[in-house]
Amino acid sequence: MMSGFSRSYAVGLLAGATLLTTAACGSGSAETAAGGKPEVVAAFYPLQWLTEQVGGSDAHVTGLTAPGVEPHDLELGIQQVTEIQKAALTVYIKGVQPAVDEAVDAETSFDAATAVTTLPASGHEEGEEGEEEHGHEVSYDPHLWLDPARLATVATKLGERLAVADPAHAQAYKDRAAKTAGALGTLDQEFAKGLSNCRTKSLVTAHEAFGYLADRYKLKQVGITLDPETEPSPARISEVAKLAKAEGVTTIFTESLVSPKVAEVLANEVGAKTAVLDPLESRPSGDYLSAMRDNLKTLQTALGCTA
Ligand SMILES: [Zn+2]
Repeated sequence: MMSGFSRSYAVGLLAGATLLTTAACGSGSAETAAGGKPEVVAAFYPLQWLTEQVGGSDAHVTGLTAPGVEPHDLELGIQQVTEIQKAALTVYIKGVQPAVDEAVDAETSFDAATAVTTLPASGHEEGEEGEEEHGHEVSYDPHLWLDPARLATVATKLGERLAVADPAHAQAYKDRAAKTAGALGTLDQEFAKGLSNCRTKSLVTAHEAFGYLADRYKLKQVGITLDPETEPSPARISEVAKLAKAEGVTTIFTESLVSPKVAEVLANEVGAKTAVLDPLESRPSGDYLSAMRDNLKTLQTALGCTA
């Protein structure tokens, strides 16, 4: 359905959504009226989910990226920059959203990428002009939330940071962090078991967001493009098609916020079907855990895994 619209129209819609959100935040929000609770800003969905779990009823958590907005494209209004400046803590990942990277202050921010071992950014042919428009301007791959084990480590460190920011509730933050890390550990075990015995280990994706998931569960990610908004060259498509055929790939993955067109073209060429794998850059219909479990089911079907 999205593929029927031009891309500029889709971008216009997204920009409209951002403006609406900004306006909604400005009108009568309870920035300081949250009963003296520390204001904690989370840059985009998976971090917002994590911060809500760890902050619990002791922190007032707001998300910067509205549902349905591709977070790499986020632009900040003055209101949101002020929100970040006033916050006790801003939780973000350097390299995902340049606007956020610029707005945060070192003292009152927590960069989740500093909590884990990062993977190098996978560079393939696109480069040149396309590169600078994209959010990924760091030497590592920033999509670390797609590895539940790394996210568990982030939860623990976030608990420690919140404990420092709000010492009166230090123990409660640490307890909730431990509980969250435990739930993520369980999810990690489900993935490890569910993906241990598969017909193929090759993961062909439209947007190269699943490097950490691939790293953790020994899959091989082949991304058609690094940037969800750049059309890959015909040469890149036939290169990936060749690889996919050689690896016995039967499913090409696409995602909800990106036009499925590229994946469909490739699937046609390979004789494969398409399926949606959620990179969780935006709020899913359930929560992080349920969306990841949906991803696991999708992967098991597509890769021919037997539990
Ligand atoms: Zn991304």
